[in-house]
Amino acid sequence: MTIEKITKTDAEWQKLLTPEQFRVTRKKGTERAFTGEYWNHHEKGVYRCVACGLELFNSETKFDSGTGWPSFYEPISRDHVGAQADNSFFMRRTEVHCARCESHLGHVFDDGPKPTGLRYCINSAALQFEKKKQE
Ligand code: FE
Repeated sequence: MTIEKITKTDAEWQKLLTPEQFRVTRKKGTERAFTGEYWNHHEKGVYRCVACGLELFNSETKFDSGTGWPSFYEPISRDHVGAQADNSFFMRRTEVHCARCESHLGHVFDDGPKPTGLRYCINSAALQFEKKKQE
């Protein structure tokens, strides 16, 4: 399944996002560890892209990485989270972004837990949590 892209100018995004959300998602910023809204958040629900609302991660795949950033071992769908090589800051990392609006989310590393062995290290500022409805 291919997702239809959402494209906006910086000025348009700035109207929709807080300065910190804009800095992280549109300028590939990183929030300081242990300062974000979700690193220590344990409610059941879905984490969406803060910029466009696309579902990105399920709370069931969230784990405590000890890093101070919300961490997940897999996305809701591989179609929803894009990845590309990031060699900035003299590090070889893989950047991850929203597949629909290309908001920067964080990075993915290969030292995560089972079953995937992946660790999606995500900025809280790039996420919007939606609590699971009572069944
Ligand atoms: Fe998005």
